[in-house]
Amino acid sequence: MSQVQRDGDQDRRFQELELALRLREREIELLKETVFAINSQLDLDTVFHLVADRARELICAETLLIPVVDTDCQHYTYRAGAGRNAAEIVGESLPLDYGVCGWVWRHKRPWWRGVLDELEPADRTRWEIEAGTLILVPMIGKNHFLGGLAGINKQGGGDFSQQDLSLLSLFAGQVSIAIENAIAFEELSKAKHTSEAYQIELHQLNNELTAINRELEHLALYDQLTQLPNRSLLQDRLQQALFSAQREEGRVAVLIVDLDQFKEVNDTLGHDVGDQLLVQVAERFSGQLRQTDTVGRLGGDEFAVVIPNADTELACHLAGNLLAVLEPDFDIDGMRFSVAASVGIAVHPQHGVDAGTLMKHADIAMYTAKRTRFGYTVYDPSEAVAQPERLSLVGDLRQALVNREFDLYFQPKVDLRSGTLSGVEALARWPHAKRGLVPPDQFIPMLEQTGLIRPFTLWAIERGLQQCAQWQESGMHLTMAINLSIHNLLDPQFITQVVPLLQRFPISRSCLILEITESVFLSEHAKLSNVLNELRSHGVAFSIDDFGTGHSSLSRLKKLPVSELKIDRSFVMDMETDRDDAVIVRSTVDLAHNLGIAVIAEGVENESTLNMLREMGCDLAQGYFISRPLPADDFARYLQNTEWKIPRST
Ligand code: C2E
Ligand code: MG
Ligand code: MG
Repeated sequence: MSQVQRDGDQDRRFQELELALRLREREIELLKETVFAINSQLDLDTVFHLVADRARELICAETLLIPVVDTDCQHYTYRAGAGRNAAEIVGESLPLDYGVCGWVWRHKRPWWRGVLDELEPADRTRWEIEAGTLILVPMIGKNHFLGGLAGINKQGGGDFSQQDLSLLSLFAGQVSIAIENAIAFEELSKAKHTSEAYQIELHQLNNELTAINRELEHLALYDQLTQLPNRSLLQDRLQQALFSAQREEGRVAVLIVDLDQFKEVNDTLGHDVGDQLLVQVAERFSGQLRQTDTVGRLGGDEFAVVIPNADTELACHLAGNLLAVLEPDFDIDGMRFSVAASVGIAVHPQHGVDAGTLMKHADIAMYTAKRTRFGYTVYDPSEAVAQPERLSLVGDLRQALVNREFDLYFQPKVDLRSGTLSGVEALARWPHAKRGLVPPDQFIPMLEQTGLIRPFTLWAIERGLQQCAQWQESGMHLTMAINLSIHNLLDPQFITQVVPLLQRFPISRSCLILEITESVFLSEHAKLSNVLNELRSHGVAFSIDDFGTGHSSLSRLKKLPVSELKIDRSFVMDMETDRDDAVIVRSTVDLAHNLGIAVIAEGVENESTLNMLREMGCDLAQGYFISRPLPADDFARYLQNTEWKIPRST
């Protein structure tokens, strides 16, 4: 070899070495750049993409893939890739012991040329089978196998070189820690995210719990219908008011308010209307009170008011206001009607010092108000004795029915024009072995509550008809008025039970008059109309009792087979002195006459009232002035001695 040739060879080798050196420098530069870039990155996807791109560039692979062991340590997933088909492969998960990666994980060393034969074709992944040549170096983190960097097919053909293996191994070693950190960071962020989500959820749950608690508290302390405080809260407020009253030697008034005839509203108009009425009543009551007062619903149609710093006088004033606020008609579903109430008052300390006693005494006073129809009543200790007996009375009722212990008293009704004693109203009495004569105001409501009013009314009709028949036998033709309860009229069996009674007694038609309280006529009009017409066809006449206390319209009444209107005694008793009452009586008489209905005034207690009624054109009268209700024997004597004419058969 000549010198020139030798020089030429040397030059070429120098050039090759220089090229190799430059390549090396470039590779090292690339490595440094990559490591620097990924070390400042915590976003895992960015790290993966950087690594995939640079690694592919480094070993001139057609495709570079990064399989990473999943957190379950059972699988690995191709988390990133670069080059041909990478997008198709990335995202695929495989069992950890599967494929070249599985081999690398098992052997803890890189996969390079030649080793491929060590893996059965069945154990290779799809692209591993298709791959011409493949290199996979492991990435080992601080403590464990992370996955690897896999190069598939050398660009321009051929195998990956020893240098590729060294470079990729070096690169894997450099980036492993960065990848491990990024994975840890990703998991941390996920955990943080989850914990934040948990915190938000927890916060929401807390809010819901607070709302539920508030709702529960509301349910426990407030009446759901009227939204007023319930019995518990009311008692609590009373207790607090009593504590401060006791400290300051002050007073506290308790009012118990019970609506009159609310049961009938419920029975005749339905519970829906009843509920709406209670809501409206609650609103009206609430509007009457001072900030410091508490009005609550005790249940049913019973309300109570706790008034701190109130003496009897103020309590009476407030009770009057509560009654007055009920006066304007209620309008429910287009129906207008009025509701009255009875109020019982008890004041600390004179009527009791503890909550229980005050409530009990206000309750007793309320019953007195109801009985006497006084509107409101202050507790009177002498009333207290009678109260507990109320309860035990209920127990005796059934027995009394079976034993026929009840009695009918008769009160005459007189025709003001002809001076004739036209008939009687039968009024029930209960001579009780221990309690003496129990008035109907006490036992009729109990009969109604227990459903015993049905057999009771049949008994009353039977007893009345028997008496009528007896009078007719002795030649006297008197009508017999029997009071009905709404329960009787709504009882589907009522007609079939009354008709046989009418047939049993040999009496002339038009002897039996059934009295129905006005409030019954508020609704159930169609149903009532059928019942009344059917009974009318059997000769029964109907009278509207206590007229003026409810709000039935006269024109509506006219559509029913009603022959008589009975003006409530509350208007009659004072009409002599109360101009308003006199006006009401007079206009009722006129209106009824225009409709062809006769008018009877009850509660006539003196002669001047009788004369006024006669002058107004009232048809009939009934009252203590004519006679008190009398037991049958006394009434027989009364009939013998009375100056009123008795209609006799000729
Ligand atoms: P009512 O049907 O309005 O009966 C009239 C009431 O007024 C009777 O009371 C009678 O004694 C009373 N009274 C009559 N004249 C006068 C008077 O001049 N002045 C005063 N202050 N009162 C007078 P009583 O007998 O206590 O009956 C009360 C209520 O009990 C009756 O009112 C009626 O609604 C009911 N009742 C009585 N007996 C029966 C019955 O057999 N069945 C039903 N369902 N209710 C009855
Ligand atoms: Mg009556
Ligand atoms: Mg009456």
